[in-house]
Amino acid sequence: MEIFSTTLLEWLQRFAIVYSILTVRYVVIAGLAFLIIWTLLSGRLAHRYIQPDRRPGGKNILHEIKYSFITFFVFGLVGIFIFEASRAGWTRIYRDIDQYGWVYFAFTVVATILLHDAYFYWTHRFMHWKKIFKHVHLVHHRSTNPTPWAAFSFHPIEAVIEAGIVPLVVFLYPIHPGALAIFLLYMTFLNVLGHLGYELFPSGFTRKPATSWHNTSTHHNMHHKYFECNYGLYFNWWDRLMKTNHPQYHAQFESRASAQREPATSSPGLAMTDSGPVAASDARAVDVTERRPSNPRVA
Ligand SMILES: [Zn+2]
Ligand SMILES: [Zn+2]
Repeated sequence: MEIFSTTLLEWLQRFAIVYSILTVRYVVIAGLAFLIIWTLLSGRLAHRYIQPDRRPGGKNILHEIKYSFITFFVFGLVGIFIFEASRAGWTRIYRDIDQYGWVYFAFTVVATILLHDAYFYWTHRFMHWKKIFKHVHLVHHRSTNPTPWAAFSFHPIEAVIEAGIVPLVVFLYPIHPGALAIFLLYMTFLNVLGHLGYELFPSGFTRKPATSWHNTSTHHNMHHKYFECNYGLYFNWWDRLMKTNHPQYHAQFESRASAQREPATSSPGLAMTDSGPVAASDARAVDVTERRPSNPRVA
């Protein structure tokens, strides 16, 4: 059987390689963040835990991991499509850096991050459209207090939408596979940071002009808690422009970033439970409209 110029066996081998790379990237980055922040340092960082009254249960974490592995199946298919399309000469991927030089290489990394930030904001707003939210984006919002494992916890349709940035880029402008790899690694780090559950940035970060343009773990954590606010990924520009930052964003951030460590702190990361009135795994029973802030739109 021929698919493009490749036999089915070669196609499966390539899929296995791409799938393995995606899962290793996820397990290493999300796994290390979970191991270090949620277990080894959870006591020391208890004052930085963003939702101190909530603890995700084991079932919730399994949900995040299960759907992430399903997502990689979709990402893997997109990956081999790009690979085959590139071999067929359909994409604008180039392999000789000298063809455009290092300045252009660096430019494409930055441009792709900026493009993805806009792509993510607007596809995210689209997925919060009532008619499709329940069918597409609710899987990700089952985590009302996400852990790093939630970074790729998507419904397969959302996985297709999230993967869409890569075909968009490779058909739009010349890009080197190395620039694409740097972008994808950056995306994974920042995605895990958004789902960290702990605020690591210093006090004043969201107010100082030098740093306020960048999002924080609190920003995306509040999106998981309140749903219809804080849609942005890397930067705060789109949320400011569209007035979709939660009105309590700065206050929430400061409550964690300026909190003082207490001598004998509890350990929310270690004290996971499937039970309890506020376990995140209970999110499926929550009417999402109840989580809407009274007025998320502020200037
Ligand atoms: Zn999320
Ligand atoms: Zn959302």
